[in-house]
Amino acid sequence: MFSVSNSFGLSVNTRQFIHWPDHADVFDPSQPFLIVGAGSNLLFIDPEYQGQIVTASDQTFSYSESDAHYIVTLGASLNWHHTVERLIKLGMFGLENLALIPGTVGAAPVQNIGAYGVEFSQFCSSVTGIDLITGQSQTLLRTDCHFDYRDSIFKHQLNDRFLITQVKLALPKHWQPNLSYGPLQKLSNPSAKNIFETVCQVRQTKLPDPKQLGNAGSFFKNPVIDSQLFAKLQLTDPDIPNYPQANGQVKIAAGYLIERAGLKGTSYKQAKVHQNQALVLVNQGGASGEQICYLAAKVRQKVFEAYQIRLSPEVRFIGKTSEIDSEALLESLMSTGQVK
Ligand SMILES: Cc1cc2nc3c(=O)[nH]c(=O)nc-3n(C[C@H](O)[C@H](O)[C@H](O)COP(=O)(O)OP(=O)(O)OC[C@H]3O[C@@H](n4cnc5c(N)ncnc54)[C@H](O)[C@@H]3O)c2cc1C
Repeated sequence: MFSVSNSFGLSVNTRQFIHWPDHADVFDPSQPFLIVGAGSNLLFIDPEYQGQIVTASDQTFSYSESDAHYIVTLGASLNWHHTVERLIKLGMFGLENLALIPGTVGAAPVQNIGAYGVEFSQFCSSVTGIDLITGQSQTLLRTDCHFDYRDSIFKHQLNDRFLITQVKLALPKHWQPNLSYGPLQKLSNPSAKNIFETVCQVRQTKLPDPKQLGNAGSFFKNPVIDSQLFAKLQLTDPDIPNYPQANGQVKIAAGYLIERAGLKGTSYKQAKVHQNQALVLVNQGGASGEQICYLAAKVRQKVFEAYQIRLSPEVRFIGKTSEIDSEALLESLMSTGQVK
């Protein structure tokens, strides 16, 4: 048995690890498999994954130039944060707001990682990988990836079959800082390095380090609601933080809703809503995936009772042999009255 590392610090085992392409010859597409990077966005509900864990080994780091851009090719197994840091040291800017996001380069397109007003998709030129069912290699241009808020084609049509092996980025030579969010607004005339350092500093003070307290960052996505429901909520809560969207809908901070529902510090056995960051569920030590799942159902229920908003997990739920529909699972825990 091999242990599967995951940022929740859950004890998870599997019988077979496939490092792609080195072990491609022993991979069996007719048997269950799961693509894994560093396990920073996964909640394993069971202590054993009964299938093949497939992980990309590509460590390419190369770049060229066009008139307006640096064109950077990155292997999927590179660490995201170290890659951002390396690019900044080489004078290639744009990713500084995405510093310190745990995980691999290959996972970045999957949920279109984002932080401090910047998303991966803004710099993505193409994504290359292999369809593990058909064995065919494919390169998708940015527009083919259907990027959206924490979303992409890799969570839908290509879910659980497309192993990303490389991504290509286009970083503009004429760099413009993005200071639209929170603590970055205070910086005057910053360099990319200043922004990188500020983001690292803020994240280190705000978010629990998974090495010390198991977690997967934001457990839920920020809900996007229609303007009518938003107007109704504002009547009772005029201070509700909100981000109007281009289509007229409004994005609400999920952490605020959880906090206002009185759930900060709430626990279920060894699973807990973080004391300072309501959006982060933590493993206090020895928690099971089931315990975290139960706590998540409770959070979803209480927020729904208070705001009529159903929170959707950002974290992917993994069962014995495949991904589980996280919303359906939480909903079933709520509807069977198991959540009190
Ligand atoms: C403390 C903390 C803070 C975080 N902050 C942020 C944040 O600010 N913004 C943000 O967007 N996310 C954040 N996250 C979530 C996480 O860092 C990202 O989702 C990251 O991209 C996960 O990378 P990973 O390699 O660990 O992927 P995994 O967790 O291993 O996998 C995540 C998903 O991607 C798929 N996947 C992984 N690698 C590949 C591949 N090569 N090919 C195809 N599919 C693949 C998996 O099947 C799975 O569905 C945070 C997590 C933690 C623990």
